[in-house]
Amino acid sequence: MRGLSFDGKLSYRTDLLEPRPDKDSALVRVSMAGICATDMEITKGYMGFKGVPGHEFCGVVEACENDGLVGRRVVGEINVGCGKCKWCRDKAQNHCPERKTLGIMGKDGAFAEFLTLPLKNLHPLPDSITDEEAVFVEPLAAVYEILEQVKINEYKKVCVLGDGRLGLLCAQVLALTDCVLVAVGRHEDKLALLKKLGINARVGSNGLERDFDVVVDCAGSPEGFSEALALVKPRGTIVVKTTAAGKGALSLNSVVIDEITVIGSRCGPFKPAIDALAGRKVDVRPLISAVYPLEEGVEAFKRAGESGVVKVLVRV
Ligand SMILES: [Zn+2]
Ligand SMILES: [Zn+2]
Repeated sequence: MRGLSFDGKLSYRTDLLEPRPDKDSALVRVSMAGICATDMEITKGYMGFKGVPGHEFCGVVEACENDGLVGRRVVGEINVGCGKCKWCRDKAQNHCPERKTLGIMGKDGAFAEFLTLPLKNLHPLPDSITDEEAVFVEPLAAVYEILEQVKINEYKKVCVLGDGRLGLLCAQVLALTDCVLVAVGRHEDKLALLKKLGINARVGSNGLERDFDVVVDCAGSPEGFSEALALVKPRGTIVVKTTAAGKGALSLNSVVIDEITVIGSRCGPFKPAIDALAGRKVDVRPLISAVYPLEEGVEAFKRAGESGVVKVLVRV
């Protein structure tokens, strides 16, 4: 099959082996896949991954033992647990120590004609969500994880740090709650997408008081966490959404002195993400900077790394 493969270098290939589903899995024909920060990191060696990257996708079920699913458009949760351990039995396969993660760890991903996933990972899509929009379900679900982890209400003052792909989604979702929201980024053009939606967005955090109950770090840089510490009030909460946060020298002094709660946050629930797109509560269309055919996937990755670019999709 055709696809992108990473083995120290990303390349487009036409000789990849088509994956075979086991009896609890489906073979999915990928329609569209999105490039996210994790994919960019993978092409720099993150997780030591080799194979087909890609974990944000939508596709059509080509074959599986559940006839009702064949031919359905689906998106899929990306963690595949062992099915036996304590975490898997507690429906927390995201934390199974033996887990594989689509296009990130131990399992070929979405930048290819076909992928496989367990049936229980798949979510059928309503017709009202286009393929382009459906690619955002996975990152949007990761944003909804925040609402599972932190109580957000009208009394909360919340800051979203970062105007990349994830930051723009975070700001849109948090704006649906009653909280007092400020989005802080570095790029006028990206923040303009939020301003258009009536969201209070600004370049840089200079002049902001240190009085936020919750700061969500989507900065995607080691400096984001220090900036979050400078904005969160004593006894406040920092939600860390980026693995880049751990790369800098980190002083936990003020975490201790100011009794800050730090919450790591990764994959999240698909249902509210699908509902938000179907109900047009979140508009992801302005975030699409370009769509490339699979043959030009290497080019698409280059483009995704350029400044000013938000989301690049690959049509498979
Ligand atoms: Zn991603
Ligand atoms: Zn397990």
